Amino acid sequence: MRQVEHFIGGRFVDSVDGRTFESISPIDNRAIATVAEGGAADVEKAVKAARNAFESWSTMAPSERKRFLLAVADRIEERADELAEWETRDMGKPISDAKTKDVPRAAYNFRFFAEYACQVGSKAWDRPWDGVFTYELREPVGVVGAISPWNFPLMLLTWKVAPALAFGCTVVAKPAEQSPITASILAEIFAEVDVPPGVFNVVHGFGPDSAGEALTVHPDVDAITFTGESATGRIIMAKAAPTLKKLSFEMGGKSANIVCADADLDAAVAGSIRGIFTNQGEVCLAGSRLLVQRPIYDEFVSRFVERAESIRVGNPLSPDTEMGPLVSAEHLDKVLSYIELAQQEGAKLVTGGRRLDDGPLAEGNYLQPTVFTDADNSMRVCQEEIFGPVEMIMPFEEVDEAIRIANESRFGLAGMVWTRDLDTAHRVARGVKTGTMWVNCFFVRDLRAPFGGYKDSGLGREGGDYSYDFFTEAKAVVIKFPR
Ligand code: NAD
Repeated sequence: MRQVEHFIGGRFVDSVDGRTFESISPIDNRAIATVAEGGAADVEKAVKAARNAFESWSTMAPSERKRFLLAVADRIEERADELAEWETRDMGKPISDAKTKDVPRAAYNFRFFAEYACQVGSKAWDRPWDGVFTYELREPVGVVGAISPWNFPLMLLTWKVAPALAFGCTVVAKPAEQSPITASILAEIFAEVDVPPGVFNVVHGFGPDSAGEALTVHPDVDAITFTGESATGRIIMAKAAPTLKKLSFEMGGKSANIVCADADLDAAVAGSIRGIFTNQGEVCLAGSRLLVQRPIYDEFVSRFVERAESIRVGNPLSPDTEMGPLVSAEHLDKVLSYIELAQQEGAKLVTGGRRLDDGPLAEGNYLQPTVFTDADNSMRVCQEEIFGPVEMIMPFEEVDEAIRIANESRFGLAGMVWTRDLDTAHRVARGVKTGTMWVNCFFVRDLRAPFGGYKDSGLGREGGDYSYDFFTEAKAVVIKFPR
């Protein structure tokens, strides 16, 4: 059993009240770590440490902060195998993904923002005709609370921590309770490369009445960057209202993946498979509503189903596993209940739908890749985020119909369109109300671009200048020159 403590003011500490909880591996539902369970008193200590560190960190030259952040990135790379293994054991993603995608991206988050913060400038407005010169002064927003989810624990935590620190803020992180281990290894890394104490703090625990809530209500936390469910975002917004914090939310999705009749079918099948079954379907950006144009519907569905049936589901620590277990037994039950609901609502189960319980898989939370056809967008299973390896396929006739269906959702996080026609690509990209639209690809990111969601999927944007805007305050300095 690993011991996971808070990291406060550069030291690993237990909770003030000594409470702990267990982190359970989805591979076999056995406990793999005893984790400190933080509450208001622990958050208080962490916020104090972050505030104390703020003055010197925020006034340090960005190039000096870069030195520390690049050292963190180097160390993430040096400890990559260990980080990948714990990520997989903690939340079930295939080790091949953890190694080749999540961990490298975590290191890159630090590299990217460490450099970026050295490049950004500010605007100025000159009015020589009446002797007024105004310029924008950027100042780090202060102490940032970073609340992250379990589906990409290290990658999404670092997506918040890296820009916050690069732009001069200090951070109190609250990782997801289901997958706290890599955040704790990250804290070790911060200690190893001698980042000043208090710059980065981690308090483990839960959301309501626990560390998460304590962070959102704390009067000395200046901003909250949160990734998680839309329902949680609503609660955080209400709880943060009395202290008027800056908020940035990345939340749920039910994205439409639109495959047009003129698409490159090989690419569309491969991309659509990735779009729903990557990370066990536990992906906010998943193309969980698959809209296929009528002329290719039958062929596409048969190829998609054939490929879905060939996905290697198994122990995620095995290098050739393509899909691991769902994060918890509770989450597996939730996804199974949606599979039942889909059938009650009239969708046709064409493959999967069953828990895998042969041999050692019986101990974990394994589910077959599941595909439904004859779905209708008004069904709850097409409107609610299932967050598992379950695809709902429906046909469309005209592209405008696909755009309308895509928009009939309370979410607007991402979308995909597969077509060889540039006009169609533009029409869909413009027509669908969503934060990211991929044309003939999926999951491709440029960290300078805005990332976030419309409607219930997000509040604000992060990435490049958008992160700069969020993690800094802009001050107008107005100088009057005698004429
Ligand atoms: P969640 O909302 O249950 O939890 C996310 C984090 O919020 C956890 O650390 C949790 O402890 C904390 N939390 C919960 N209640 C809280 C409260 N009242 N106050 C403060 N903190 C609280 O989400 P999850 O189940 O961990 O993650 C899955 C969800 O995240 C899905 O909806 C998914 O779409 C979304 N997600 C979105 C993105 C994105 O970029 N838009 C990325 C990944 C995941």
